[in-house]
Amino acid sequence: MPKETIFHKIVNGDIPADVVYQDDDVLIFKDIHPKAPTHLLLIAKRKEDFVQSIADLTDATSHVPALLISKAQIFAKEHGIDGYKLTFHVGEGGGQEVFYLHLHFLSQQTI
Ligand code: AMP
Repeated sequence: MPKETIFHKIVNGDIPADVVYQDDDVLIFKDIHPKAPTHLLLIAKRKEDFVQSIADLTDATSHVPALLISKAQIFAKEHGIDGYKLTFHVGEGGGQEVFYLHLHFLSQQTI
């Protein structure tokens, strides 16, 4: 079994996070160490959508990156953000520290 991560604890409500949006599928919260005026993290909430990293995607979870990107696009549009960066860190060599797939959303604009 994969190790429980800090993001599992956030999804389960065991530790607090600065949540800016959520629905049944996705949680969006502020990164605790922001690298830009807006630095958000997007994660999938459903247990069956859990995957550690882009490197671990399977047929069952291959839709998750598109889900996160789509929610980022909708969130940006709704907040009038027209310039942003979307990043997945993949593996320790790619700078990944939390092994719960997440999309970084960074913008010089504020929400
Ligand atoms: P990564 O390097 O892609 O694994 O990014 C993990 C990100 O999670 C980092 O930018 C951290 O600052 C962020 N982070 C770690 N713990 C928390 C937390 N409790 N709440 C919000 N962001 C966090």
